Amino acid sequence: MNFKEYIRDVQDFPKQGIVFKDITPLLNNAEILEKTTDALLNLVKEQKIDKVVGMESRGFFFATLLATKLKAGFVPVRKKGKLPFNVLSKPYSLEYGEDALEIHTDAIKKGDKVLIHDDVLATGGTAKAVCELIEELGGEVVQCNFLIELDFLNGKDKIANYNVDSLLHY
Ligand code: 5GP
Repeated sequence: MNFKEYIRDVQDFPKQGIVFKDITPLLNNAEILEKTTDALLNLVKEQKIDKVVGMESRGFFFATLLATKLKAGFVPVRKKGKLPFNVLSKPYSLEYGEDALEIHTDAIKKGDKVLIHDDVLATGGTAKAVCELIEELGGEVVQCNFLIELDFLNGKDKIANYNVDSLLHY
């Protein structure tokens, strides 16, 4: 299955000079959506996953689908100020400046086996912050799972202590 046929390059989005990987054509096609979910599931080696954590907002799609297949719960990580209950917050660096990612403090129990999913691994700053949030809540990050890895940005180096598996590489 050539999943890359369903990933669209959008020039100069969200700003000049960026080539954005648009995954909406892949989400749009019922057969490809199911096959992508199954292929991401095949990357998961651990038998027992308690929680799948998805990053706002494109990480939510497959994280939720994976959670149902793994019979695990789904946990959203969101940008600062979006989650309504008590949160643990982690600053992370963006291309320009800083923001923070947040998780509900009751979302992960001590000893939970956690799978992290996001659509794209770019510089790795997002994934690193999420791994730290999970560990601070007592969870164990068993895998970081991505639909797309932008190899030339070396994001893997930032999360070198974790199992990192990506379906598509560019
Ligand atoms: P990082 O923190 O690894 O630099 O950036 C990863 C985050 O940025 C992910 O949450 C991802 O959704 C978003 N991102 C960065 N570049 C792209 C891209 O080209 N396409 C998409 N869909 N998301 C991107």
